Amino acid sequence: MGTLRLIPVCVPAMNSQPPFRHILIIEDQKARRIIALEQATYTIGRASSNDIVVYDRIVSRHHATLVRIKPSPRQDNHIYRIIDGDLEGNRSTNGLIINGKTYESYNLKHGDSIFLGAKAKISYRILSTALEIDLFNPLEDVQIHGTDELSAVANSYPYESTITTRQPLQERDPQDLVRLASFPELSPNPIIEMDFSGNLTYLNPAASIKFFNIEQDKLKHPVLAGLLSEISNLQGNLLLREITVNHEVFEQYVHYLSDNQLIRSYLFDVTERKNAEKTLKYRALHDTLTDLPNRSSFDERLAASLNQARRNGYVMAVLFLDLDSFKNINDSLGHTIGDQLLKKFAQRLNLCVRAGDMVARWGGDEFTLLLPQIKTPEDTVNLAQRILQELKHPFDIGGHQLHIKTSIGIAIYPQDGEDAETLLRNADAALYRAKERGRNHYQFYKSTMTSKASMLLKLENLLYKAIEENELNLHYQPQIKLKTNQVTGMEALIRWYHPELGNVSPVKLIPLIEKTDLIIPFSLWVLRRACQQCQQWQKDDLIQVPVAVNFSAKQFQQPNLVQIVAQILEETGLEPQFLELEVTETALMQNLHFSQETLKELRQLGVNIALDDFGTGYSSLRCLQKLPVNTLKIDQHFIQSLEDNFQDTSVISAVIALGKSFHLRVIAEGVETLKQLELLQRLNCEEVQGYWFSHPLEPEEARQFLRKKIEINKIT
Ligand code: C2E
Ligand code: MG
Ligand code: MG
Repeated sequence: MGTLRLIPVCVPAMNSQPPFRHILIIEDQKARRIIALEQATYTIGRASSNDIVVYDRIVSRHHATLVRIKPSPRQDNHIYRIIDGDLEGNRSTNGLIINGKTYESYNLKHGDSIFLGAKAKISYRILSTALEIDLFNPLEDVQIHGTDELSAVANSYPYESTITTRQPLQERDPQDLVRLASFPELSPNPIIEMDFSGNLTYLNPAASIKFFNIEQDKLKHPVLAGLLSEISNLQGNLLLREITVNHEVFEQYVHYLSDNQLIRSYLFDVTERKNAEKTLKYRALHDTLTDLPNRSSFDERLAASLNQARRNGYVMAVLFLDLDSFKNINDSLGHTIGDQLLKKFAQRLNLCVRAGDMVARWGGDEFTLLLPQIKTPEDTVNLAQRILQELKHPFDIGGHQLHIKTSIGIAIYPQDGEDAETLLRNADAALYRAKERGRNHYQFYKSTMTSKASMLLKLENLLYKAIEENELNLHYQPQIKLKTNQVTGMEALIRWYHPELGNVSPVKLIPLIEKTDLIIPFSLWVLRRACQQCQQWQKDDLIQVPVAVNFSAKQFQQPNLVQIVAQILEETGLEPQFLELEVTETALMQNLHFSQETLKELRQLGVNIALDDFGTGYSSLRCLQKLPVNTLKIDQHFIQSLEDNFQDTSVISAVIALGKSFHLRVIAEGVETLKQLELLQRLNCEEVQGYWFSHPLEPEEARQFLRKKIEINKIT
């Protein structure tokens, strides 16, 4: 049995009844209701003092006014004019839109859709008092102008009178009346009549078929149940309700004909529409991949649980989770595997929680959990441990055994936040901290976390966008051979300009990237861009020298680094000898054995290796023998103190000599002055890089630099 949803309409006494009734059908956040217009004026708005209250926050307090007017002195019938705002000229905030057009004042016509800039919908109808018969004429012949949405609203009431375009009944010929009278019999929609004592007086064929046991069930049948009790409550004569009979949903329009002591019902099967609405609602609240509730659903539930917790003094918990290194799986094994992993992960999560708890997919590889009632914060520890434990078994997906870890951030109501936003933010900050601590952990929120974490989070989000939307850029700094003045290489240096943050230095950017799962996409992006650029220089006959790409310690330790490099070389078609990877000795020394293996493989691929910032690590000289590198880059710190530090001079000459004996290129970095240059020349340094020759250049500037260089070299 459906709920009663419709508002009775006041009908004047029979003898004074006008030929037409003016009706507003209002659908807003509260309900759908019908209002019969009888007064000379009506105020419409959100405030409860209005004659017609529309429950929607976007509607102005006093949004519009209806005024009954006579279109001409000779006409008997009146019409209603709707005016934006009140009669003193104060306009509404969002305006008055009728059939898709904005009006300050408008004479309402049958079928008009009124829109108050909100979700609330108002339709205007002129109904005949001979409603019962004409009710079956659909609105087809009513012209509705406006947006599709508005037309759809108007058309959702297809069974109303269009009497305005028709003759009054008494003027119709008898044949016509017979034809009209037979309408109920032919109607595919059930029509049922009973008297005020509850006896059935009429069933049309459609009703007999649909509700075959109605005569037996009588007032217990959902179609009839509750109708009699409404008689005493009803102030008007019309009631609309929704009922369910054997899984079919009907809209039931009930007319109370007091003069005849009859109750006549018209039923329309809306099952399909309801099912479609249900599906849409389900889709709107669930994630299609994992079938878990989605973010909106979680928000709704969190708000409701918070209310309950506040009322009953419950403690509750919000957990934020994400998969560690999920991006790597997506990037290396593809999205299909990634998707399957998310699905299976969602299933396992669901197994960990109790009935009444909620698991939702927040987006990407992020999940949220809601525990609406816990005894103490420690209860969440059990759950977090259960989840971490559950993940100890690998996921078997497409023949891959995937070992997945997760980090979990926990915020407790009320101690860590009293509203949804704060709780979520703090659970997220705790998650961030869990990741910082080395992943595969759970972490409770602490008040010291938010500011730093949210700053980093903001940067991280921006960075994701930057990589996706190509906001990053590479600049190139030439390396010069002093004897010939020729370019021997170009070092690629990352640049990120963000409109709000300004230029973010690589020194800040790289550690940030290392904290996120962006390392692989970032490495791929930089390599691809640098290799493409180097190819282009060769195609343009500018240079045939390597492009140098910096790799941080973490980047260098990516397990599939060699495949990534090979993939990009193949993709861009750059020959491997034109790529040089710059790694610092400190990075290599973090895991010497691994570094040696990786370097060997990279060398086998044909790629060059440069030791960047050489001289800053204590193990410099020893590591040289163990690592197969091609180039040494003397750290700029030595060059810059060259003029006044004798010791640095001796380090530089030792490195140069060492390089020569190992047949390595030696480049002095950070050469800024002529004096430094001359000193380096005296120390037999062959190659230099620094502001003295050129700052790192944008691609177009680099092209011009290289072109100029060729021309100068031709002349000299
Ligand atoms: P690095 O590889 O040693 O790069 C040299 C840095 O010195 C660059 O700073 C460059 O702009 C700057 N430089 C060049 N000539 C001079 C000079 O004459 N005087 C002075 N004072 N500085 C000079 P930048 O671009 O800010 O990069 C800083 C560091 O960030 C780089 O040091 C490198 O370790 C890292 N980095 C830059 N781009 C990338 C990248 O794409 N990936 C990775 N992993 N690290 C990068
Ligand atoms: Mg470098
Ligand atoms: Mg360097």
